[in-house]
Amino acid sequence: MRTTKRGRGEEEEAKEDEEWQSFRRITGERKGARGKKELEVEWEDGTRSWIERKLLEGQDAVKEWDEQEAEEPEVICDAQTLHTQVQQLAQWMKAVSSEPRRIVFHVGAGMSAEDGVPTFRGVGGLWTRGRADLTNFDLAKVEPGYPYRAMVALERAGYVYWVVTQNYDNLFRKSGFPSEKLSEVHGNIFVERCSRCGKHYERPFPVEREDADGEDHSTGRNCDDCGHSLEDILVHFGEQLRDQTIANAKSKGALLSIAIGSKLMVTPASTWVMRPHQHRPKGKVVIVNTQKTPCDAKADMVIHHKAGEFLRQLTAALNVQVE
Ligand code: NAD
Repeated sequence: MRTTKRGRGEEEEAKEDEEWQSFRRITGERKGARGKKELEVEWEDGTRSWIERKLLEGQDAVKEWDEQEAEEPEVICDAQTLHTQVQQLAQWMKAVSSEPRRIVFHVGAGMSAEDGVPTFRGVGGLWTRGRADLTNFDLAKVEPGYPYRAMVALERAGYVYWVVTQNYDNLFRKSGFPSEKLSEVHGNIFVERCSRCGKHYERPFPVEREDADGEDHSTGRNCDDCGHSLEDILVHFGEQLRDQTIANAKSKGALLSIAIGSKLMVTPASTWVMRPHQHRPKGKVVIVNTQKTPCDAKADMVIHHKAGEFLRQLTAALNVQVE
């Protein structure tokens, strides 16, 4: 069933057959004036209106709405708290001996949020009811901002042993962060690999086929060297993570782990973050995020702030220059 923008009642809909217009998404839910459940729909032209839920029942958009999570509020600490926490963290980082210092960063969608990439479960995230509108969104046009440049500088200064990222947006590689110190456990939307000889290709466009169904990873292109078919490296729900062995080993070796911009809802990513606690003497775990996470209670420090400002203050505290 499709729904007209103007037609609320069935009679009116029948009359307006010629003008039917599908809606883009559902954006809200409420109890209407007569106690009936209503859903707010956004039309293709961006305008919104409330429609009795009964009239939309059975549509995919309604099922999707029911599966999506309610948006959880952000928690941002005050400037003094941030300053105190960053000073403490800088001390902990300096105290991690060995060269390079065994500090592993675990990065999630929040790290790219200030560059305009919507998160998954954050405010406006792709899996929340207030999700961002991606109609004209082009990931290829996103450039790595301050958080990524700060990570490059921290690595050069010897403060990064390894990065495990759940992001597939390519912003680490684009920023010049060394790929040999990076585990992209959920893949990278701009990378395809030959299914026979294993050669990798980094493209300026997302490599996934538009009609890809999640199981078939072929991109429709062939390898320049051996002519075999190329595949995207994205990890879909239920598939094994990439680089799992090395990400696990590096996480185990960490004396300090710092998780930035992840809701830490999925394992093993959340388990890896807690690995320093298995060392004797116990290492430290720090979480930097704008929402609460299930790992907060066990962490040694939780910094409720944005990745950009946190990294600005951290690099200053460590006297690290960011280009
Ligand atoms: P998530 O959306 O579940 O959590 C992101 C967290 O980041 C949220 O709790 C949010 O409050 C926080 N956040 C938002 N802006 C922030 C900022 N400026 N600074 C610090 N924190 C901020 O994301 P996740 O835990 O990474 O897991 C989501 C899954 O979705 C992963 O599998 C990932 O591959 C995928 N994903 C990736 C991208 C990307 O590549 N950029 C974007 C969306 C989703």
